Amino acid sequence: MGVKVVGGGSRIKTIEEAIHVLNGLLEKQERFKRSKSNDIHAEENMAEQVGNLTFGIIKPDAVRGGKVGSILQRITDGGFKIRGMKLIHLSKREAEGFYAVHRERPFFGELTKFMSGGPCVVLALEKAGAVKAWRDLMGATDPAKADEGTIRKEFAASIGENAVHGSDSEENAQIEIAYFFSQLELV
Ligand code: GDP
Repeated sequence: MGVKVVGGGSRIKTIEEAIHVLNGLLEKQERFKRSKSNDIHAEENMAEQVGNLTFGIIKPDAVRGGKVGSILQRITDGGFKIRGMKLIHLSKREAEGFYAVHRERPFFGELTKFMSGGPCVVLALEKAGAVKAWRDLMGATDPAKADEGTIRKEFAASIGENAVHGSDSEENAQIEIAYFFSQLELV
């Protein structure tokens, strides 16, 4: 039999119950503190990585043409670490959401139809100065103007169907990675 400590309307009637509740609260507080410290480390890690991460797509023309393996080889040969990768098939609406900045451009319909016309491979890539490094490796938007040795020069057929996508800024890299990957899918 426990000792009665609180009366009235309280649900805690005995010392044992009070200790039990108190222990539960202390444990909860500890868990909260631990999760906060994990959050801080996760934030620190993320801050370190931001400048070194970019987002890429191997577009439907390159997937259809069987170029995924060769392009991934170029990416790893270029010193990038693949932090996230998956094969997806965008719906028209998802392609429109992703390319929303281009919605006023005359080629928006053509672009989103192409991007939703077959599977593509989405990538989170890591390297020092990743955004610029990946755009340099991709080459100019129009493959006719792309430098020798770039992916678009080798694999792209036209300005519309140009094999790969790459973020154009660190800020967009973060937004685009978050559009396609959850934190758990980045290794
Ligand atoms: P990127 O950053 O090099 O991909 O080029 P942009 O941001 O300017 O354009 C985004 C994408 O829109 C390009 O990669 C192309 O797939 C497409 N695009 C750009 N210009 C044209 C165009 O004149 N015609 C068509 N059909 N598509 C275009």
